Amino acid sequence: MGIASTGISHAETGTRQSYDAIVIGGGFAGVTAARDLQAKGKRTLIIEARDRVGGRAWSTTFAGKTVELGATWIHPSQKLVWGEVQRLGIATVTDAHPEFVVASKEGGGYEQKEMAFLDQQSALLARFVEGSQEYLPRPYEPFHREDLLRELDKLTLGDRARQLRISALEQNWVSASTGAYGGGFDRGALTQLAHWWALSGYTADGYHAINSIRPVGGMSALLEKMLARSGAAVVKNAPVTKVVDNGSQVQVTAGGKVYTAPAVVVAVPANVWNTISFAPGLPAEFGRLASESVGVPTARKLMIEVQGDVGRPLVNGAGGDLLDMVIADTVKSARGSLLIGFSVNPQLDANSVSQVQTAIDQVLPGTKVLAVKGQNWGSDPYSKGGWTFRRPGQLLGGLRAVRQPHGRLVFAGSDIATGWAGYVDGAMETGVRAAGLVSELTA
Ligand SMILES: Cc1cc2nc3c(=O)[nH]c(=O)nc-3n(C[C@H](O)[C@H](O)[C@H](O)COP(=O)(O)OP(=O)(O)OC[C@H]3O[C@@H](n4cnc5c(N)ncnc54)[C@H](O)[C@@H]3O)c2cc1C
Repeated sequence: MGIASTGISHAETGTRQSYDAIVIGGGFAGVTAARDLQAKGKRTLIIEARDRVGGRAWSTTFAGKTVELGATWIHPSQKLVWGEVQRLGIATVTDAHPEFVVASKEGGGYEQKEMAFLDQQSALLARFVEGSQEYLPRPYEPFHREDLLRELDKLTLGDRARQLRISALEQNWVSASTGAYGGGFDRGALTQLAHWWALSGYTADGYHAINSIRPVGGMSALLEKMLARSGAAVVKNAPVTKVVDNGSQVQVTAGGKVYTAPAVVVAVPANVWNTISFAPGLPAEFGRLASESVGVPTARKLMIEVQGDVGRPLVNGAGGDLLDMVIADTVKSARGSLLIGFSVNPQLDANSVSQVQTAIDQVLPGTKVLAVKGQNWGSDPYSKGGWTFRRPGQLLGGLRAVRQPHGRLVFAGSDIATGWAGYVDGAMETGVRAAGLVSELTA
């Protein structure tokens, strides 16, 4: 079976297609599940809504370069994605360190800081997650000390900042690596931040190192390679609208066709679960997580081309400003430098040169913005949010329930990982698990 760029990869004979397994969603979770199902001898179809696979991993072009508007970095501590890169013979490249830091100053506005500022910032960050070695001693088994997590899982990052009596200025200094990750101090759960901290080895250096190494060629190329090796069939431009489990077969309606299989992996983002009609209906936890959001609903990532060589800045945006973080990309464009911006501010139009120029004027004065290209993941109908960052109560509340098979359906996706939720590795973890559960269901 080959892989076609659009449409299904083998001749269709009618409106009904039957497979050994169907995977809904061609992101890293879905492709990993399909890869493992194919390896178990199951003829598998991936049904993808967009005209491309990859979902929240999306390599595209900007200023003549390959850039990422979603997932970018991988790390050896993320064993599944790292192992895959090794297996596929893909080289990796490490980003250069920043040369200068910009952060909020007393009384408002921004200033350039000495590099030693980063130690101060790390110490603050460590205070947020103090005690995580006790309450999350086994990072891949986050429920191990459920007794200690019960109260903590109710806290937002803002609650924690108030507990610690962190000043407004200090809060701005760590906003980019705490509140902004969570979609705002009053959205994200402390336990999600602590979980990433635990997975990173309980140190600030470990935590920051997670976002520094890239696969050469980009994330989409990595996924395409995995997909090609898997031999799974793919149909694109086919949003799934309906899934009916009659107890022995599952019928999946997409793009005006009905596909059937004895079991289905649902590997779409949690935020879009309630856009698909399931019969029988899903348990209440699914609806609750989807309506609360698991992926950050205001997440935006943008590439910014600026004139000339601006060096390697690390800008820490203050909470509520237009840009939460700006860092230098590893490559330069023909006209100047490429910067990577992150924002969770719903006011930011990530494709507006004038708005981004206003934001850049605040943090890197004198820098001329030439072009921008961004993605507002929250307004994308097939994500309705960006990277995963759980809300208070979700770790202990709904996570375990949505990981259980529901009839002949198994759910997957980075949003429901028990390891690296919010990362490609977490997506792969759930894909591996889903393929195993589907094999059991269909044995
Ligand atoms: C801005 C940003 C930066 C990030 N940076 C990093 C990083 O540096 N490193 C890292 O490891 N991770 C990063 N992440 C997280 C990473 O991208 C995700 O964790 C991972 O890609 C999620 O994979 P997934 O398969 O679970 O979901 P997705 O990638 O969202 O895949 C789900 C798929 O389901 C499809 N779909 C949705 N609805 C339907 C439907 N009705 N019918 C059919 N298909 C449907 C979607 O189109 C999509 O292809 C980042 C994410 C964002 C948004």
